Amino acid sequence: MKIIVLGGGIAGLATSAFLAKQGKHVVVIEKGNSFEDHGAGIQITPNAEKVIKQLGIYDQFKEISDQPSSINIREIDTTRRLHSVPLDQYCMNEFTGDYHHIHRQDLIKLLSVRSKELGVEIIENEKITKIEELDKEVIVSSECGNSYQADFLIAADGLNSIARKYLFPTYAPKFRNFSAWRSLIKIDKDIDKIFLEPNLFISKNLHFVTYPIRKMSYLNCVLISKDIDKKKESWKENASLSEVTALIEEANQTVKNIFLQSTNIKKWGLYDHFLPKWHSNRISLIGDAAHPMLPFMAQGGCSSLEDSFALSYLMKNSKNISDTFFRFQKIRNKRVRKIQQISSRNRFVFHQPLLIRSLIFKILELFPFILLSRLKMIYNYDVASRIKN
Ligand SMILES: Cc1cc2nc3c(=O)[nH]c(=O)nc-3n(C[C@H](O)[C@H](O)[C@H](O)COP(=O)(O)OP(=O)(O)OC[C@H]3O[C@@H](n4cnc5c(N)ncnc54)[C@H](O)[C@@H]3O)c2cc1C
Repeated sequence: MKIIVLGGGIAGLATSAFLAKQGKHVVVIEKGNSFEDHGAGIQITPNAEKVIKQLGIYDQFKEISDQPSSINIREIDTTRRLHSVPLDQYCMNEFTGDYHHIHRQDLIKLLSVRSKELGVEIIENEKITKIEELDKEVIVSSECGNSYQADFLIAADGLNSIARKYLFPTYAPKFRNFSAWRSLIKIDKDIDKIFLEPNLFISKNLHFVTYPIRKMSYLNCVLISKDIDKKKESWKENASLSEVTALIEEANQTVKNIFLQSTNIKKWGLYDHFLPKWHSNRISLIGDAAHPMLPFMAQGGCSSLEDSFALSYLMKNSKNISDTFFRFQKIRNKRVRKIQQISSRNRFVFHQPLLIRSLIFKILELFPFILLSRLKMIYNYDVASRIKN
């Protein structure tokens, strides 16, 4: 059985590694390459850490990721701490794994090396522009005129998936009137010490997340703001410093100073959609191609990792892959829908006016189990035991 995996992001590479481990012939086709530096960090929570372990790369992963001890929730105008989530204590006593921050490119490289070790062929710098699903095969063709044939196609080609457009041409992701501005800043000795721990700065209509990565050498910065001006979802959209400083006009100077050091800020429109069907007979969507989510729970990449285990496990001894694609969606749908909904709702919690915000965090301070039970529902999920039962 030959399988083409379209897209060498988190979902594509993890799925290809799992399938190759079963001895399947897998070819990944990626329009970029694994050496591209998108300059951004990603949070990997205990539910996704479990998948990293299943991939057999946990030791290397742990070596290059950071494990934060807490996340501080602060007012953006004063930097005053409203609440602190004790991650180290929670990871030890409440969660079934650890919480990590990692540079996205380091994760991609790790997955890419693992896939190749297991025999996956990765074709880079090849943009697929056409897909044809026939009775007994799938053919994909690239911008430069190459064609590739396989029995099945797993489309891990992200939010703007060409496979999704092929299967469901009338369907489109929805811009949710929020955009993200991302930057990576070198941490030097002069940096304010509040940035040495992860922070979530909140304000009306915007929030700002910072956390160190690469063993405290870089500070990952993501500013998310309400935005009516529809932006692309792309790593290539540059933003100016003045655009960002205008957004955080009310921020404390310590926060503003962080952005003043940015030389490369990228902007990113935030979209999601709730696609009713993820597959056809020979094609299945996976990861963001199937169920993109707003980044308010930091679960898009983590869910993609869960998907990769689930789909490959179901395909292991399958005699009817079309039926397996159906079962994959049936099993995964409830969980990803729930996380999509929580992520979507969180945008309203984070961005409340001062009084309501203060009240929310006072309640969390007094009743920490409210937040904890939600985190446990997401983080303690074990896709392997769910799928095997
Ligand atoms: C601001 C922000 C912060 C986030 N933070 C987190 C976080 O902390 N934790 C978390 O879990 N998630 C986070 N996410 C979500 C996460 O980034 C995505 O959910 C995740 O990257 C999805 O992985 P994927 O492999 O499905 O898709 P993608 O990462 O989009 O990968 C798709 C791949 O397909 C390739 N491709 C696309 N089209 C073609 C084509 N035609 N031909 C060939 N190749 C193609 C692309 O080049 C790309 O490599 C965040 C998202 C945003 C916007």
